[in-house]
Amino acid sequence: MDVPPPEPGPGEVRVRVRAAAFNRLDRFVVEGIPGIPIELPHVLGSDASGVVDRLGEGVTDIVPGAEVLVNPGLWDGTCEYCRKGQESLCRDFRILGEHTQGSATEYIVVPARNLHAKPPVWSWGQAAAAPLVFQTAWRALRSVGELRPGETVAVIGAGGALAPAAIQVAHRLGGRVVVVGRNPAKVEKAIRLGAEAGLVVTTEKPHDRLLWEWSDKRGIDVIFDSAGAETVSRSLRALARGGRLVVVGATQGPKVEIDLRTLFWRQGSLRGSTMASRAEFDAVYAELVRGHLLPIIDSEWEWDRGVEAFHRLGAPDVFGKVVLRTGDPGR
Ligand SMILES: [Zn+2]
Repeated sequence: MDVPPPEPGPGEVRVRVRAAAFNRLDRFVVEGIPGIPIELPHVLGSDASGVVDRLGEGVTDIVPGAEVLVNPGLWDGTCEYCRKGQESLCRDFRILGEHTQGSATEYIVVPARNLHAKPPVWSWGQAAAAPLVFQTAWRALRSVGELRPGETVAVIGAGGALAPAAIQVAHRLGGRVVVVGRNPAKVEKAIRLGAEAGLVVTTEKPHDRLLWEWSDKRGIDVIFDSAGAETVSRSLRALARGGRLVVVGATQGPKVEIDLRTLFWRQGSLRGSTMASRAEFDAVYAELVRGHLLPIIDSEWEWDRGVEAFHRLGAPDVFGKVVLRTGDPGR
């Protein structure tokens, strides 16, 4: 479909997209999220990298031609939470590609404050692979999970896009990282990103039992769980006294039954986390730029293979971000 490039409004910038990255989120958008009306045809993709193409009124701190990556979190900047610097709690918080048209297109218009310089040593694909997953992992583990150096931290699920980011962030924050997953090859890859141990789940040995044994029946201080229905009640059972179970998604379903006795007796807490504030984004971006954290790409696809790229998201061995390159490299 040919549509004219969108025009940036005040405070906004138009970016010519060079690479976009899909997320598990995109599959939910396609399948439909109750309560979120989607305007059709819908453009997928939350993350993007590209070249600044046109400036809206009042934008002075960036120039056309600048190479950037895009933070896909959108906030109004005016509500009580934004005024306190808690942008991901914004009353009007949205994610590019989920609540709005996404990044897998030729041009996108975003607020200038959402742009960050693309580190010159990164490919376009790496720049598009970083923003969503690293900010999510950073806030969930550091701010919400209050992970402290020396504490044990379990990442539930070894593959996808989020776990490779969460393992690196947990390691960087000084945690003793253990990763659990069903696929031995993915667990092996995950260990190389900074985990101290990788445990393979079986029918006889679900992840709570594995973690309980690994920790010598002490439990885990911080558990990072994005699976939801399938794992959260078990994760709770693997929590140490005073531990924090941080839920960042519900890819396997949203409803769980938990045993409150486990929660209060261990004096644990069940916490939720989404995306990140501006300050948290800046902090994790600085770590990325310094090379302490590395964007992990599962696969990169040319523009005309977008449908195959999208299907790759559902593959059992996906590890890292699925990236779509747009347009010809010479333009
Ligand atoms: Zn707000």
